[in-house]
Amino acid sequence: MEKETLAQLQPGESAIIQTIKSEQQNQKRLQDLGFTAGAEIQCLYQNLSGSSSAYLIHGTVLALRHTDAASVIIQQQNRTTSEKTIVLAGNPNVGKSTLFNVLTGLHQHTGNWSGKTIELASGICTMGENSFHIVDLPGCYSLSPVSRDEQISYQYLMHGIVDAIVVVCDITCLERNLLLALQLKALFTPVVLAVNCMDEAPRKKIRIDFEKLEQLTGLPVAGISAGKQQGIDDLLQTVQTSIQNQEPLRLTDSLPDTAPLLAEAHAITAQCVHCDGSHFQQDRALDRLLLGKWSGIPIMLALLAFVFWLTIHGANYPSQWLSGFFAQGGILLDSLLSALHTPDWLQSCILNGVYQTLTWVIAVMLPPMAIFFPLFTILEECGYLPRVAFHLDGCFQKAGACGKQCLTTCMAFGCNAAGVTGCRIIESPRERLIAILTNSFTPCNGRLPMLIAILTMFFVSGSSFAASLLLLILIVFSFSVTLAVSRLLSRTILSGMPSSFILELPAYRRPQVGKIILHSLRDRTLFVLLRAIAVAAPAGLLIWLLAHIDTGGQSMIQALAQSLNPAARPFGMDGVILLAFILGWPANEIVIPLMLMMYLSNGSMIEIENYTALHQILTANGWNWHTAASVLLFSLFHWPCSTTCITIRKETGSLGWTLLAILLPTATGLGLCFLLQQILRIAGLA
Ligand code: GDP
Repeated sequence: MEKETLAQLQPGESAIIQTIKSEQQNQKRLQDLGFTAGAEIQCLYQNLSGSSSAYLIHGTVLALRHTDAASVIIQQQNRTTSEKTIVLAGNPNVGKSTLFNVLTGLHQHTGNWSGKTIELASGICTMGENSFHIVDLPGCYSLSPVSRDEQISYQYLMHGIVDAIVVVCDITCLERNLLLALQLKALFTPVVLAVNCMDEAPRKKIRIDFEKLEQLTGLPVAGISAGKQQGIDDLLQTVQTSIQNQEPLRLTDSLPDTAPLLAEAHAITAQCVHCDGSHFQQDRALDRLLLGKWSGIPIMLALLAFVFWLTIHGANYPSQWLSGFFAQGGILLDSLLSALHTPDWLQSCILNGVYQTLTWVIAVMLPPMAIFFPLFTILEECGYLPRVAFHLDGCFQKAGACGKQCLTTCMAFGCNAAGVTGCRIIESPRERLIAILTNSFTPCNGRLPMLIAILTMFFVSGSSFAASLLLLILIVFSFSVTLAVSRLLSRTILSGMPSSFILELPAYRRPQVGKIILHSLRDRTLFVLLRAIAVAAPAGLLIWLLAHIDTGGQSMIQALAQSLNPAARPFGMDGVILLAFILGWPANEIVIPLMLMMYLSNGSMIEIENYTALHQILTANGWNWHTAASVLLFSLFHWPCSTTCITIRKETGSLGWTLLAILLPTATGLGLCFLLQQILRIAGLA
């Protein structure tokens, strides 16, 4: 069985450290002793009582009690003579993860911006009778690490298990990519150069002399196109030959000076790569428009509004179709259960409890998700996200935060938990914490459908165009609140000067739309949907049970909701709404279905083919536009979902910061709802 923690390692076995999960002080001590991600560790002996073991790490032997060793998460090296470890290294955004996915069949996140890969990933690649252990490292520009992700690569390259290093380069920026290759060549052997994106060469009129490149770099070279899966066998063959010809060897521990290597890289590219620069001019022409002082921000807002419009408008059709389909399914299920003489209570539990909540999540939540994710991925693949970060850096600087926070905020649109992990690309620990604490101020994909539903029902009477404009305003508002809270944090508990903002603006790439749709449906939408379903079914069951347990004339759910009424009223909501948000902690997608179930707690199966039926139920239960506005605000700003909370705890290693990450949005949401109520009262509207 694969061993997961250091405590499970037996004498003679080796592993690679992945991370340390212990309280901060212990973690720090272990890190000081060299227990960092990527470091190779070997278990030497175990003491008689079996309580501790001695380990070899970075050439020193350390004894560690198993209770402490259990906090060190490892990846075991099941090395057989035929399984060699090939490490993919390279600058960010050159196609390492794309190559890794092709080699291993796994699904690492790829996208046209720097900083997506923040952890080591590993998998197995088979070629004929041989199999290779492939390790994908986070991108680094050189061997002088600055951020946490670069640190991981550095540690692995210096101390991890390596049989060959493949330095992945992008043909469109070979000169800069060569620095790392030349550094690694001085440190290690064998190193192979993989020149990626060869499919772009003809279109960008780039010619490359591979023979000369091999001769001048002294490295074996393979031209590949990871995106099109071309040249992969040749690359593996080159690597295998290199491994056969050269024993893996670390040549030195001291880093070579970068300045002469940069000159060498320049001289090599000048002799090997020929291009007329036309692709560069096309990119600059686009940049003049997209990065322009006056055109950039309006285009950015228009693009976002267009994405929202497509999401809202496009989601209407599949939503209606799915609702109709599930309504028919409900009738069939009802007849089937009756034919099977299912007791009434069980029939009601299955239909009104589980089926209704599940189908609601699928019919109302799935279509916007399935449309928004691919659209967002297309923007990501084009190389547009770093351009957004460029525009917004000024705002983040004024808020005392890092411009890269814009990228993690964008990631939060997809999933807050992914956004929190993504904060590793931020070098300064202070700014990283600010980004983590404010990440859930951005509505994730699970909350977008709820915002869309409420906007459409209460504020725009069904117009997709008006709903997308209002959604855009809400997003701009949530962004402003993110900045305001970041500023507050940077002026108080996380005070300090904003650090530098250095971010690569990559070449524009034509997205492979078909692939994107397939990948985002398979890797993202389906994942989020399955999680929502896994939560929705038991939650539906729980609500049904609570609705049918009688506590002195009223159901338990009514009693619970009533007891929450006094707490919810000052904020313009009722007990049911608050309870739905509380029970929806595992997944925001289920908040609206839960509200519905509670309002219809003893009701029958309803057919919801559009928002009108939902609107009727809500208004019959006392909702008006004031309630809707409060729910909008509260769904924008409340506690992060359980997965995000766990991720924050893992990333900060502190319960205190996690609590603050929960308190900050909740206090903001309640504060804004309360303020809204006061304004409405003063205006005589409430
Ligand atoms: P990493 O940061 O080095 O892991 O890079 P990724 O694997 O995420 O790729 C960066 C960008 O390059 C993504 O937009 C990929 O779709 C794109 N890409 C990767 N390989 C190729 C290729 O062979 N051809 C083209 N045209 N694009 C590629």
